[in-house]
Amino acid sequence: MSVIHAPVAADVLRRQDPELAEILLGEAQRQASTLQLSAAENFASPAVLAALGSPLANKYAEGYPGARHHGGCEIVDVAERVAVDRAKALFGAEHANVQSHSGSSAVLAAYAALLQPGDTVLALGLPYGGHLTHGSPANFSGRWFDFVPYGVDAETGIVDYAQVRTLARGHRPKAIVCGSIAYPRHLDHAFFREVADEVGAYLIADAAHPIGLVAGGAAPSPVPYADVVCATTHKVLRGPRGGMLLCGNELAERVDRAVFPFTQGGAQMHTIAAKAVAFGEAATPAFTAYAHQVVANARVLAAGLEREGLVVTTGGTDTHLITADPAPLGVEGRDARGRLAAAGVHLECCALPHAHARGLRLGTAALTTQGMREQEMAGVAALLGGVLRGRVEGRRAREEVRELATAFPPYPG
Ligand SMILES: *Cc1c(COP(=O)(O)O)cnc(C)c1O
Repeated sequence: MSVIHAPVAADVLRRQDPELAEILLGEAQRQASTLQLSAAENFASPAVLAALGSPLANKYAEGYPGARHHGGCEIVDVAERVAVDRAKALFGAEHANVQSHSGSSAVLAAYAALLQPGDTVLALGLPYGGHLTHGSPANFSGRWFDFVPYGVDAETGIVDYAQVRTLARGHRPKAIVCGSIAYPRHLDHAFFREVADEVGAYLIADAAHPIGLVAGGAAPSPVPYADVVCATTHKVLRGPRGGMLLCGNELAERVDRAVFPFTQGGAQMHTIAAKAVAFGEAATPAFTAYAHQVVANARVLAAGLEREGLVVTTGGTDTHLITADPAPLGVEGRDARGRLAAAGVHLECCALPHAHARGLRLGTAALTTQGMREQEMAGVAALLGGVLRGRVEGRRAREEVRELATAFPPYPG
């Protein structure tokens, strides 16, 4: 059995609670011996994990630095100020709120800052890659706001910008949301800004996926265009699980009050410290190189999948993210996901713009953190094609995956 050099295998846990230690070690081994092609996942650095597992987890800190409802906050206040300053510098934003517990919490806070229940909001429809918080009836967004969905062109998979303008003029929304869980191309932020201005709407950019690429200069920034940018810190950005908001000075107080006290209680200071560590990492030349490699890898992977016969939505990608239809290989999305999971390749199903069948969504953030490059991506594409066609036998596929993963340990020791 290979030794996993992850901070989870702490001796103290093994001595006190072997049952849980075993579970944590098992998960670390699972992550290190399979391929994480989930577009939303990554490997946070040992430094980020150290901040997460620190005594800052003990600290209650409702409010903001210098204005807390609890005593003894003088040190965690510094941590939050550092996180805020680093986020502002990294993204060129006038104001940053780093307290949101998740990407969804950040979107909720953006709506709370700008909207009233019942307001009309224009957002990418869920069948085209909108997030749950963009109007799903199963989510607060769909229950409390009147969402009007725009879509993508059925042929090209590109956002139907003409429809965005037409719907905005017809419905006069209070806000327009741009952002997606599955869109592989850059969004035209300037266009969304122009339409929002024309109809007097706020522009909210939900940049949960591409914000890490933005940090590394590998994707255009929504910050100069959107009134509020919502994001996660754990996807390509490679920080702890969590959310954040960026905005201009004029909305700063409304955004802060929308996070606390309107939608959240005490800030999670260990997570905020870990966000600060991640922002520090993201400001380095190494991260810039990483972000560009993520995109280069995704381009090679997308081209390889096309060569294997899958239909890649929009014909490629600008980002870390790819969606593809495996139907030409004679296998439907859910079945494909199951076969790949059996081989140790983990990814998600997603809606497809042109079909009722499900497709596959995958990304290169985690594999790139492991140090894989174009050559490995070509191999991964061939392996996926082989598994989906039934050309590579199950046990051999699992062995190939294990060999590749083991050659690129996420936490080399
Ligand atoms: C991931 C994501 C979210 C939600 O993030 P959570 O941390 O899972 O709540 C919201 N919007 C978009 C576009 C996302 O991709």
